[in-house]
Amino acid sequence: MAKIGINLSTGSLQKDEIIVGIDLGTTNSLIAIVHPETKKPIVLKEFNGSSIVPSVIHFEKNGQITVGDLAKSQLELDPERTVFSVKRLMGKSYQEATALKDLISYKYVADANESAVVKIQMGDLFYTPTELSSLILKSLKERAEHILKTPVNKAVITVPAYFNDEQRQATRDAGKLAGLEVLRIINEPTAASLAYGIGLQNASVENNETVAVYDLGGGTFDISILSISNGIFEVLSTNGDTHLGGDDIDAMIVQHWITQLGVDEKILASDKSMMQMFRLKAEEAKKQLTQSDLFSGLIDKWTLSLSLIDFEQLITPMIERTISCCKQAFLDAGLKKSDINNVVMVGGSTRVPLVKKMVGDFFGKTVNDSVNPDEVVALGAALQADVLAGNNKDVLLLDITPLSLGIETAGGLMDVLIPRNAKIPSKAARQYTTQIDGQGSMRISVYQGERDLVKDNRKLAEFNLKNIPGMPAGLPKVEVGFLINADGILVVTAKELRSGVSQTIEVKPRLNLDDATVEQMLLDSMVHAKEDIVLRALAEAKTEGEQLLKTTEQFLQKNSQFLTQAEMIDTANAMQALQLAITMDDKNLVQEKTEVLNSISRPYAERIMDMAIAEAMKGKSI
Ligand code: ADP
Ligand code: MG
Repeated sequence: MAKIGINLSTGSLQKDEIIVGIDLGTTNSLIAIVHPETKKPIVLKEFNGSSIVPSVIHFEKNGQITVGDLAKSQLELDPERTVFSVKRLMGKSYQEATALKDLISYKYVADANESAVVKIQMGDLFYTPTELSSLILKSLKERAEHILKTPVNKAVITVPAYFNDEQRQATRDAGKLAGLEVLRIINEPTAASLAYGIGLQNASVENNETVAVYDLGGGTFDISILSISNGIFEVLSTNGDTHLGGDDIDAMIVQHWITQLGVDEKILASDKSMMQMFRLKAEEAKKQLTQSDLFSGLIDKWTLSLSLIDFEQLITPMIERTISCCKQAFLDAGLKKSDINNVVMVGGSTRVPLVKKMVGDFFGKTVNDSVNPDEVVALGAALQADVLAGNNKDVLLLDITPLSLGIETAGGLMDVLIPRNAKIPSKAARQYTTQIDGQGSMRISVYQGERDLVKDNRKLAEFNLKNIPGMPAGLPKVEVGFLINADGILVVTAKELRSGVSQTIEVKPRLNLDDATVEQMLLDSMVHAKEDIVLRALAEAKTEGEQLLKTTEQFLQKNSQFLTQAEMIDTANAMQALQLAITMDDKNLVQEKTEVLNSISRPYAERIMDMAIAEAMKGKSI
């Protein structure tokens, strides 16, 4: 496979300027830097404090806002004014947020003006997920400034590999709101692989490794397959589930207890602090069971217990789900399990021994867990920040697109410009033309997904290329260009090449698909592969038939005087039959009738063409 290298160093930064790496996690956030003397990445912690900042925000009644451990302690006491798992709402619609309502104890509403945006209500105030994330980032920035005793204005922030354009953009905006210049948004698994440093220290030594990064955090699961050689990191494929993680383990334990104790679920659901207490106890049990065989605890009047055996039985199906994702990642990378040299564990939930065991058994290897799984992403982000600061010029990084990107063409078909798993940054362009004479504008609809018909994919944006000068159909050359920049954000341009009329897309995000649908896309594309092929063939046949009807009609308008009576009647009949076949949605019939019309019109079309040429030649000597 050919390797492309992209030099990420900018070299335009002030010397000694600090760029921090931030793991903005669903559950926990961390901030890290590369130590200026030791050149090793370290997480920042207050003296005697923890490096982990829970991604929790508490809104006090007096208007004060706290983030982190203090806010987390308010989850039980003041659940309605305590916000957690904000990352799950990033770039989401109100409708999508409702799918998460069991996990959320705070109020959220649809924005009156833009119903596509979810807002979180705190008394009289409303916050978007981006604004909430910015509160966490601001607190991390202040924390870093306090520890480092210097201003911190630049950062690299990590996001899950599954984040789409809107979610990446929302993260970038959150950074901006927090007063940070976000130099790069990178995928968490990519950062983790950097932190493992495979190939990093030995950039000059010949080494080739294929690494699987397994990241099971609080709210998301990602698997990435990376190829690393001679200091070049190449992400071959990614897969995962944005709704699978430690939170789900906690929920399963709570459910287990509720059933075991016969607690009235309705009463519990209406008592938010009680619900939170159960949730936190479940997390405690889970953590304790990484070291012992039995957990027991108390909540109110209930005695809770959970054995390791029961716990493992409870979570086995969930781990199996992560392993299915791993299998898909191999398929996408075109690899076999035996091609993997190294399996890397990331995320707090990989501390569960059964996770390591099952993943190890699946890969047939002992998993690599030598770097603290909570810190590994932040450490990698710090290393990336160091590269951007120009301190490490040898490192090359390549990311890939999780879903295909394309535009709608005739018949509602998806025309893919940048395929799934293409390398980022990535560029592609293709030419299109008009279907109607004098067509003055062309609608460009951008979609993301794997299905053949755009209606089954996710619309990202739409715009009109206007002011195309009047030309016969088929003559304008409209070049549509896709550019995915290094942050994974898509810029679409359309340009009519003959006139130079051009436009760059104004992305108006549409959030009318719920997140589960987006996640299902890959699965769906496999399930529906056969019927999609049939539908694509039908759409193509219909487009071709319609095109022929149109050109025939235009031809007749100009040339009917040259046709015989019989030719006129045959043509009219054939056109009618084709029209009928098109309305009947019968691909074979459409193709057959198209062929019939073609065979009727071809002879007289050629005859009339010859006449026209002869006419044109008259009086001209060659
Ligand atoms: P995220 O990246 O989603 O913010 P983290 O990687 O910080 O998440 O992982 C947080 C998750 O890890 C939480 O669900 C937490 O309960 C879980 N976790 C942390 N320590 C342990 C442990 N010892 N055993 C099991 N789960 C743990
Ligand atoms: Mg994480």
